[in-house]
Amino acid sequence: MKNLLKKISKTLKDLRSHRSWSLDAASEKTGVSKAMLGQIERGESSPTISTLWKIAKGFDVSFSSLTENLESSKYKFLRSKKVSTKNYQGDKKIKLSTIFPYNKESGFEVFAITLLPTCHHKSAPHRKGIIEYVIVASGEIEILINDKWHSIKESEGIRFAADKPHGYRNVSKKIAIFHNIICYNEK
Ligand code: MN
Repeated sequence: MKNLLKKISKTLKDLRSHRSWSLDAASEKTGVSKAMLGQIERGESSPTISTLWKIAKGFDVSFSSLTENLESSKYKFLRSKKVSTKNYQGDKKIKLSTIFPYNKESGFEVFAITLLPTCHHKSAPHRKGIIEYVIVASGEIEILINDKWHSIKESEGIRFAADKPHGYRNVSKKIAIFHNIICYNEK
């Protein structure tokens, strides 16, 4: 948890300085308040998944580049560890862990997302061109796409353009886990 906060804080500072953006400019681009950005940079606040997505979109970087050390080389052998459900403070019912961080050659990243019962998570639109794949590993979830909730059971999948508001919820009584592939489709 401490390492995660450190990584996020360093990445945000680096991104901002590379772009020579003031806190004001970064706040305008990301839609995250100046105070919150300052707290994240100082490691005083643990951002929610939604806030991290806003930052990723504002800076036009992948989500996992904020939380993981990305590979610099091309495809190499990579074995991901058992899903360690990193908890984002403020997100009590949703946990996210990275299985494969973003890779420039592949253009995608893969997460395992755990939804506790009654979890209802809304996601703001991502950048145009981003496609999401959702594959349920265990349990059952519902995905909101174009104002309609779609139920997906274990081993079933769904694909959608993620440049519109969407959402994930668990209306069952059991924990649900799904794999989320974010395809950036870089040109
Ligand atoms: Mn999303």
